[in-house]
Amino acid sequence: MTQRVSSDVAIIGAGPVGLFAVFQCGMLGLRCDVIDSLEAIGGQCTALYPEKPIYDIPGFPRVEAAALIAQLEAQAAPFTPRYHLAQTVESLTQEPGGGFRLETSRGNILHARAVIVAAGGGAFGPVRPPLEGLAEFEGRSVFYMVKRRQDFTGKRIVIAGGGDSAVDWALSLENVAKSVNVVHRRDKFRAAPENLAQLHVLASSGRVVLNIPYQLQSLEGKDGQIEKIGIISTEGNIQYLEADILLPFFGLNAAPGPILQWGLSMEKNRIAINPVTAETSVSGIYAVGDIVSYEHKLKLILTGFAEAAQAAHTIYARLNPGQALHTEYSTTRGIPSLPVKDGKVS
Ligand code: FAD
Repeated sequence: MTQRVSSDVAIIGAGPVGLFAVFQCGMLGLRCDVIDSLEAIGGQCTALYPEKPIYDIPGFPRVEAAALIAQLEAQAAPFTPRYHLAQTVESLTQEPGGGFRLETSRGNILHARAVIVAAGGGAFGPVRPPLEGLAEFEGRSVFYMVKRRQDFTGKRIVIAGGGDSAVDWALSLENVAKSVNVVHRRDKFRAAPENLAQLHVLASSGRVVLNIPYQLQSLEGKDGQIEKIGIISTEGNIQYLEADILLPFFGLNAAPGPILQWGLSMEKNRIAINPVTAETSVSGIYAVGDIVSYEHKLKLILTGFAEAAQAAHTIYARLNPGQALHTEYSTTRGIPSLPVKDGKVS
């Protein structure tokens, strides 16, 4: 079901900088909606390096990326942001009254009085295999993530890829699926050694079939349902695997995509901002974090945090003209509570 909601600020991107922007806005009494293409918050920290330690966050001598995101989420929580995950903001337009209208890939409409673009390197999405007719099968019999293992009970599954996700899901689905074939273009996998050892045990007993070194070549089926998957070896041998489901696990990539159509001044795929205010070339739209460009921009989380503070203060001044904002320390002010309103417009 599609939604229509409104808030003071719509934040595009739930990476570390977008999350800190929720806190900064909240401290100034501004309520936020946060939208992200990924199913989880955290941007690059969650998608690319959750277990890696970060050493240059002020006050944290060492913090794992996932733990930093958990802290940022907790810091933003008192301001009850609404998260709209697994959807990309496709259009961003100005409304006659001076606000903005955002439409997501799920058809949800958001209205906001100001917008902060915290889009990092762009919307994350799966790396898709270059197969003819792929779109017809996506979401029906081709999936880039497994939400519920039970959905695959009794299915003939082909898993493509050679990293941790491919190996983990082969192990996890083997005892519910009718069959599991793994297709990998190299003869070595890049996965945790203990999981790999387990995969080889299953392969030697025939419970999982390893097709290596092979890659995907074609899909056959109808009405979105796969029936056969063509695979080709490095020597050019072609085989067909009977299958109900294809799970390609080739990682994620990020692309600015829709942002390029929003009428903002760009510099080499980055949004040009005034670093003093974080304002873009369109009044009322701000940008922070890795997505922005200005002279001497440092692509670091801590720089993005400071930009988020600048953006929030500028937005406050815009939305409350003539109302002086005296800088108050959080130690003096504590965590203010926001007025209760559900923000739904229909
Ligand atoms: P991101 O983290 O990229 O998040 C942006 C989010 O916006 C994404 O989730 C994306 O899906 C979403 N998005 C984009 N467009 C849309 C759209 N149209 N609709 C909906 N959602 C959208 N930095 C440090 O400071 N210290 C380090 O030690 C460090 N180590 C790193 C190690 C690695 C391996 C990597 C890859 C990066 C590292 N970085 C480090 C960089 C740091 O992760 C980035 O600077 C930081 O993630 C930028 O945060 P962000 O919120 O601006 O963007």
